Amino acid sequence: MSADRYDVIIIGSGAGGGTLAHRLAPSGKRILILERGDYLPRETENWSTEAVFAGERYKARETWHDQEGKPFHPGIHYWVGGNTKMYGAVLLRLRERDFGIVQHADGVSPAWPLSYQDFAPYYTEAERLYHVHGERGSDPTEPPSADPYPHPAVSHEPRIQQLADDLARAGHRPFPLPVGIMLDEARPHDSACIRCATCDGYPCLVQAKADAHVVCVKPALQYPNVSLLTGAYVERIDTSATGREASEIVVRRNGEEERYRADIAVVAAGAINSAALLLRSASWMHPDGLANGSGVVGRHYMCHTNSALIAISRTPNPTRFQKTLGLNDFYYGSDDWEFPLGHIQMLGKTDATMFEGESHHLLPGFAAGKLASHALDFWLTSEDLPRPDNRVAVDRDGGIRLHYTPNNLDAHDRLTRKLRHLLNHLGCEPHLLPQNAYFGKRIPIAGTGHQNGTIRFGHDPANSAFDINCRAHEVDNLYVVDGSFFVSSAAVNPTLTIIANALRVGDHLLERLGARSAVR
Ligand SMILES: Cc1cc2nc3c(=O)[nH]c(=O)nc-3n(C[C@H](O)[C@H](O)[C@H](O)COP(=O)(O)OP(=O)(O)OC[C@H]3O[C@@H](n4cnc5c(N)ncnc54)[C@H](O)[C@@H]3O)c2cc1C
Ligand code: SF4
Repeated sequence: MSADRYDVIIIGSGAGGGTLAHRLAPSGKRILILERGDYLPRETENWSTEAVFAGERYKARETWHDQEGKPFHPGIHYWVGGNTKMYGAVLLRLRERDFGIVQHADGVSPAWPLSYQDFAPYYTEAERLYHVHGERGSDPTEPPSADPYPHPAVSHEPRIQQLADDLARAGHRPFPLPVGIMLDEARPHDSACIRCATCDGYPCLVQAKADAHVVCVKPALQYPNVSLLTGAYVERIDTSATGREASEIVVRRNGEEERYRADIAVVAAGAINSAALLLRSASWMHPDGLANGSGVVGRHYMCHTNSALIAISRTPNPTRFQKTLGLNDFYYGSDDWEFPLGHIQMLGKTDATMFEGESHHLLPGFAAGKLASHALDFWLTSEDLPRPDNRVAVDRDGGIRLHYTPNNLDAHDRLTRKLRHLLNHLGCEPHLLPQNAYFGKRIPIAGTGHQNGTIRFGHDPANSAFDINCRAHEVDNLYVVDGSFFVSSAAVNPTLTIIANALRVGDHLLERLGARSAVR
């Protein structure tokens, strides 16, 4: 065995890749993680809004283009742990119905090749691994589970408790958001998490957020058989002469080309970069991109229709950790609309720096600090449907071109109107929100945080690139475990499903490697 041959090579160390490494680590198999990014530096700037939001300190310095050729800077992060270093750690299961056909006003959300029951045990494991705090049974749309959450729900701070009470009084069913943070409210002196105001969208300085680096990659690297190369950008994957086997992984590192070989290659570079990698790996045997005989690689890109909506309440909102409340009462429809609208959750708390320069035209007479101290911040998500023309393409020079035309917008507009209406009729007159004090912002194409769907899995090689074990139909030793395998995007945050799937595929790989008994 040459020094550069491994049993498994995993490309990318985010939610999918990091989790898979963790699953395979105890097997004793030689595992190499190739990660284009470095370790995210631990520094005071981790928690500085100025540095993180205004300075975009941790965002990739990359330019992509849209379908018109217009350049944009994607909201993407290349670090050990991937985008989970910055995520809000809201970890929701897809709803049971999301795995079937869902009729939307704008078309059909197709069925997955597996059911919720296939994923359920892995969701339970994923919740344990990622320290999810929640309250089973509180979310009326939550799929069935016999297991409680591993940790009690994160408590609401007083202003959010007041919102929850107001919503409940108005007949709604707000629930505590399931969040993956290492907070121990019963023993605060021992809690790794200090419940700060800079979590959603920031890295965690004290490493108490359950991100893929902290909970998966770090412990996996304790095993002598697991190694990680940072700064290792995978340019392409070459195949054997038959085209049936991924034979070499070609890496650009410190300006030099390096080649690595493995019995099994797993792509986990994130839905957009994984698709781009397969497209860049086109060859004589795979003229339209590696494993792309179906033509679906890069297509059906989804990212949800997301909006941030900020309501200015007369009552001050001194909340620090605001991401504790969710509302799914419009997930499947509403009294005046038979189709699904989507999901509502709190955002991380905005602060004065985020309103700097904007406060005057947002609400004349309000200084940024005052605006922030009265803001209640919401995140609204509606399902976008998989359309073949919404896709990742690769320019001749290897650059990424993202074609995306939003769809199912009526559902999202209705969801936004529902929330505004609710906030105006909460029975909370003393702190009624003035009608004009909402700032809604639809997340633009650069908002790739919820990217998924670009290499869908399925039974049929004619309309999927990977089989139900997430193995390429056309390349025997090539797998995918990031968000690209999704068939539909549902309307909840994607990461718990990516993690659960990585655990599921991990079990298949342990079986294939004959290492199942070594792990359990
Ligand atoms: C600000 C923000 C907040 C979010 N909040 C939430 C939330 O609350 N809940 C939720 O469920 N989701 C949230 N998300 C989304 C979540 O981060 C992603 O769903 C998740 O990280 C995707 O996992 P992944 O494995 O598909 O990709 P990633 O985590 O992005 O990992 C991909 C990895 O591959 C590496 N890579 C890419 N290309 C290459 C290459 N060519 N060679 C080598 N390495 C490569 C990248 O550097 C990265 O480390 C949020 C995202 C953002 C940006
Ligand atoms: S709230 Fe907790 S997990 Fe989140 S950044 Fe702060 S200390 Fe870290």
